[in-house]
Amino acid sequence: ASESEARDLVIIGGGVAGYVAAIKAGQEGMKVTCIEKRGTLGGTCLNVGCIPSKSLLNNSHLYHQILHDTKHRGIEVGDVKLNLAQLMKAKDTSVTGLTKGVEFLLKKNGVEYIKGTGSFQDEHTVKVELNDGGETSVTGKNILIATGSEVTPFPGLTIDEQTVISSTGAIALEKVPEKMIVIGGGIIGLEMASVWSRLGAQVTVVEYLDQIGGPGMDTEIAKSIQKILKKQGIIFKTGTKVVSGEKISSNEVKVEVDSAKGGKPETLDADVVLVAIGRRPYTGGLGLENIGLELDDRGRVIIDSEYRTKIPHIRCVGDVTFGPMLAHKAEEEAVAVVEYIKKGYGHVNYGCIPAVMYTFPEVAWVGQSEQDLKKAGIPYRVGTFPFSANSRAKTNLDTDGMVKMLADPETDRILGIHIIGPNAGEMIAEGTLALEYGASSEDIARTCHAHPTLAEAFKEAAMATHGKAIHY
Ligand code: FAD
Ligand code: NAD
Repeated sequence: ASESEARDLVIIGGGVAGYVAAIKAGQEGMKVTCIEKRGTLGGTCLNVGCIPSKSLLNNSHLYHQILHDTKHRGIEVGDVKLNLAQLMKAKDTSVTGLTKGVEFLLKKNGVEYIKGTGSFQDEHTVKVELNDGGETSVTGKNILIATGSEVTPFPGLTIDEQTVISSTGAIALEKVPEKMIVIGGGIIGLEMASVWSRLGAQVTVVEYLDQIGGPGMDTEIAKSIQKILKKQGIIFKTGTKVVSGEKISSNEVKVEVDSAKGGKPETLDADVVLVAIGRRPYTGGLGLENIGLELDDRGRVIIDSEYRTKIPHIRCVGDVTFGPMLAHKAEEEAVAVVEYIKKGYGHVNYGCIPAVMYTFPEVAWVGQSEQDLKKAGIPYRVGTFPFSANSRAKTNLDTDGMVKMLADPETDRILGIHIIGPNAGEMIAEGTLALEYGASSEDIARTCHAHPTLAEAFKEAAMATHGKAIHY
């Protein structure tokens, strides 16, 4: 194609990173093409990640609560039955509604959407193998790599999504397993363990580290949520490494585990094993070799602070490059990268990206953990407030959890906020805003919070950080 036909921006990947960049660029008046091979937009997050997992978490929680947590509230229910097919259908309805919604938004913003697999032919041309057959190519003044990530496989255990599953199989099982082993006690492991344990499976989570929750979770919080999840019936083997595994039949898998510190090996068996040991950047078939782009030792596309690869008009954002693999991080980067292209400046504060684990109660945090601060030799002050002392949590009969704040002892500036609580994922937005604005714990403590709300625990933790809480 000639230069005059070149698009302002060609995006490879229609996940959160790709579709958000497409919408933003469309809004900026750019001529944009977005190439996605999946057949639907929204990537991992909308199709097989954030959205379907939250549907299952929400409805399995409701089911579990109706079964086990109504009588003492004065609600007597009759025969409660699980209709797994309908549970999955409700999930699919949410997914389809949202992915179609994204397609509508691309159209509304004048984005050309091509269903196919993109690969670099040269520095300005992307060849597309169309899903419907045939081939085309698109020329771009700027090209954005937004190809996301894929499941990290476990050597020796081939994922068939029935017996040996990844998160994609875990959101689509057709029957509740009797016994399930989860390899990896990170966020995927714990969210999926929660879903299937609530629906009736006996779930064992094997985690290599001494603490669950994956990277970034505060150790005190991780210990506390582990106790809560254990009470809910999940079995934990921490400090334990899965060394090998074998599928025996379509409903039997064995895994060998070893104490991380040395000790007795053990064999565990289950009818389903979930591999949740992390995700890795996805660049398969992208033809990076055709343009001489190299990856780092973890397979990530190397970029500078303005998301440029070493070929300046080719940029990259989302899971396929550096930083936490989170949808909202991808979204922030997608907006920023378009701003860099269009205006020459953009902004993402990497010190201020919240993380949420959607178990019950939820766990959420932003900023640094206590162990991060200790390791970096940064002095800090801690303030905590338990939900057991919060009036709303007490009336709701949901008192597990707490708010923990870390602040600079000299300036009182907030350094990190960590929450376990029924509404932690929503509450962390307040903490993120505080951190982004450089607030002190006193700023939060002097902000009026409505009564009776769970958010008062947030305010009281701030009071406890530089002085004393009222109700504890
Ligand atoms: P992706 O969403 O992976 O999108 C990349 C897209 O590019 C894919 O659709 C792929 O088909 C396409 N693609 C790849 N190569 C090509 C090519 N050559 N040509 C055309 N198209 C191509 N994050 C959260 O913040 N909150 C959550 O609650 C959460 N829950 C999750 C639950 C699960 C089970 C999983 C697996 C992940 C979850 N995540 C969550 C992580 C989140 O899904 C990712 O961080 C996010 O999807 C990253 O967006 P992305 O656009 O960079 O990549
Ligand atoms: P993770 O990195 O969070 O956790 C993987 C865990 O597996 C680690 O704790 C690791 O120590 C453990 N592990 C690795 N090898 C092991 C072995 N052989 N035996 C026992 N344990 C082992 O990865 P994940 O949970 O797979 O999640 C992948 C990505 O998806 C993460 O970046 C996560 O942030 C993202 N995600 C986010 C959400 C959310 O925001 N709610 C939900 C799901 C996924």
